[in-house]
Amino acid sequence: MNESRVLNGMSVDVEEWFQVGAFERTIDKDDWEGLESRVVDSTERVLDLFAERGTKATFFTLGWVAARHGALMRRIVEEGHEVASHGWDHQRVFTMDAAAFRADLRRAHAALEDASGAKVVGYRAPSFSIDTRTPWAHPVLAEEGYRYSSSVAPIRHDHYGWRESPRFAWKPVGDAALVELPVTVGEAIGRRFATGGGFFRLLPAAVTDFALRQVNAERQPGMFYFHPWEVDPGQPRVHAAPLRSRLRHYSRQGAMVGKLRGLLERHHWGRVDAVVERLAS
Ligand SMILES: [Zn+2]
Repeated sequence: MNESRVLNGMSVDVEEWFQVGAFERTIDKDDWEGLESRVVDSTERVLDLFAERGTKATFFTLGWVAARHGALMRRIVEEGHEVASHGWDHQRVFTMDAAAFRADLRRAHAALEDASGAKVVGYRAPSFSIDTRTPWAHPVLAEEGYRYSSSVAPIRHDHYGWRESPRFAWKPVGDAALVELPVTVGEAIGRRFATGGGFFRLLPAAVTDFALRQVNAERQPGMFYFHPWEVDPGQPRVHAAPLRSRLRHYSRQGAMVGKLRGLLERHHWGRVDAVVERLAS
């Protein structure tokens, strides 16, 4: 097998423009219902891009979104993609206890399966919020029957990260089949650097290319993610958010589709459940 043929996980975290971690302290959850929904249009833009390239991907979707947009969920499944869970309403795991986490998982799982008609076996924590503060999280996922999680960023970041966790796929719970597929981080001069999401949007694509080639050279799958709101330059502006959050959120959204198209061309991509099955065999 050629190095370029390692199957990498392509994933989309499906959430509204107002549900992101960066605006958590600015936009109240009670106000979500009254805000302009743009998730269908922006996710359809993503689906069109994948269709153009023939790429299959995993859509980690909020239960809150699935419950309101059944047609979108069905289109995702009809086009050959995987539907997975991003939790109910973007509550970060380290703000919950084990019981609240389990309730959040179940509520999202029911909404996702009802809306999509597909079986959900994957989970991504909002803002990669499984870390040293949540030792119960992976065991709960295993008990709830999940096949994989992609919920850890093995890096130190200002909002999140678990620097000491493995860079590559690992089994977090003893005998359970559950696999954790962390988001890809590159390594250079002894330091780790992040890829995906805002990092991909804001930095040259070569940074992500380098990290993916580095990971694939070790026969390991990469894991990439982005959000529908990153390909939606027309979204309303949240002026009350901190400047740093606004800079990160809005920069270079117009260039994102072209950049993604190049990334899809240069690497081998698939659904995350397919990546997990390859690891198991
Ligand atoms: Zn998210």
